[in-house]
Amino acid sequence: MSEFINGLRAIVGDRHAVTRKDALKRFTEELRGRYQSDCMGVVFPGSTEEVSRVIRFCAAHGMAMVPQGGNTGAMGGTVSTPEQLIVNLQRLDRIVEVDRVNQTMTVQAGCILANIQEAAKDAGLLFPLSLGAQGSCQIGGNIATNAGGINVLQYGNTRDLVLGIEVVLADGRVWQGLNRLRKNNTGYDLRHLFIGSEGTLGIITAAVLKLFPYPGGRIVSLIGVETVSAALELMVSMKSASSDRLTSFELMSQRSVETAVTHMAQQRNPFDRFYPWYILAVVDSTEPDPQLRSRIETALEQAWTDSIVRDAVIAESESQSARLMLLREDIVEAQKFLGGSIKHDVAVPISCVPDFMDSAYRAIRDYMPEAIPYPYGHLGDGNLHFNITQPPNMDREVFLGHWKTINTLVHDIAHHYHGSFSAEHGIGITKLDEMEKYKSETELDLLRDIKSLFDPHGILNPGKVIR
Ligand SMILES: Cc1cc2nc3c(=O)[nH]c(=O)nc-3n(C[C@H](O)[C@H](O)[C@H](O)COP(=O)(O)OP(=O)(O)OC[C@H]3O[C@@H](n4cnc5c(N)ncnc54)[C@H](O)[C@@H]3O)c2cc1C
Repeated sequence: MSEFINGLRAIVGDRHAVTRKDALKRFTEELRGRYQSDCMGVVFPGSTEEVSRVIRFCAAHGMAMVPQGGNTGAMGGTVSTPEQLIVNLQRLDRIVEVDRVNQTMTVQAGCILANIQEAAKDAGLLFPLSLGAQGSCQIGGNIATNAGGINVLQYGNTRDLVLGIEVVLADGRVWQGLNRLRKNNTGYDLRHLFIGSEGTLGIITAAVLKLFPYPGGRIVSLIGVETVSAALELMVSMKSASSDRLTSFELMSQRSVETAVTHMAQQRNPFDRFYPWYILAVVDSTEPDPQLRSRIETALEQAWTDSIVRDAVIAESESQSARLMLLREDIVEAQKFLGGSIKHDVAVPISCVPDFMDSAYRAIRDYMPEAIPYPYGHLGDGNLHFNITQPPNMDREVFLGHWKTINTLVHDIAHHYHGSFSAEHGIGITKLDEMEKYKSETELDLLRDIKSLFDPHGILNPGKVIR
């Protein structure tokens, strides 16, 4: 084995191939602590050429590799075994070019998402992908997982934000697909196969990203409503009032807001009572637009008159906007104070969300009456984190032992409404069973054929996405 490591060191340099157990921990620790992970080492190539040489070297030795970005993925996509090598992209962290006229940015795959957002902002532009892990996840990981986040409603998923990519294939060849074109209709679009492939088809080393005008005007409101149906009615009227400039329309349950207010020091109840559901709505415009604001105010007043809205506040300043938006972030963190939590990341057609919610609440009540639904999510995309926290008097591990059964209850209901069991986090190893349960044989056959075409010897992230 030391001969193998020496071979890797000859490619990337001594300092960039690590095998010391204590140094490996950061790269093998799994986000949710659900899986044991280990590896024979982590290698940090410093260029596309080095990634290619590492892959050729591993292929020649039959060594399986696990590509890794910031290791913030939620589906165990970077879990490795002691016989596998982690290939971490963190040294490929260069922003290669910002093209203000083309409104594109070319980046290496190891760039941290927040740094990309910052570089776009410095050029007066916006890279709209935004999610809780943006301070540590890498754009290569975002592309490999087709990450979503809070701005999908207006700008789409990562898939919609990537014009081109560069990928090193399982045999070490480099596919140079750094396309900067808005239109390019030349046969099968390989880019889309790699986006969302979770490291199973190739290692992404660079990308061309789409940028947008920076929104100099932002209207943030927090709204209390009685039902999810009312929230959807409100969404339709806010879309119309904002001329479809609604960037986020986030749903939070009473339980999640109450928990954040109770446990997070910086949170206060934004109203003088709690409501069954809350909406955080964000409307962006290129510059502050008083008329747009007045149309939003009118829409909210009308919704209040029509008993759709029970209470609402519109932020008066940037700091107030930030405070309202922090509530949405804090409900995720606050969940931990209730003990163990069984997570879901489902999507249903937006109009089916109220029925999905009713059915899912009923199913949980029937199965475990004391368990506490803690739903929140990107209502504007129909994507819900219908999480369930443990009954207060149940042992955490006993509750988490119900993970599979509770997942099945919720996923079956999403499936019933023609929904998805994984709307933004992907498959990794966590949802392999669901792939087999909910995808057709035809689709599974095609997916397996694609995998074996791109990675005939199964050395790229084996055992992830598809069995
Ligand atoms: C607090 C928090 C909030 C989050 N919020 C969201 C959210 O709103 N929406 C959302 O979609 N996700 C969210 N996530 C999940 C996670 O941040 C995203 O999936 C992110 O895109 C993963 O990026 P990463 O660099 O950490 O990838 P990693 O975790 O390192 O890897 C994820 C997968 O991508 C593969 N991979 C990584 N880099 C490459 C590469 N260069 N080439 C090929 N394959 C690669 C890995 O093998 C693995 O399968 C959140 C996570 C946290 C911790």
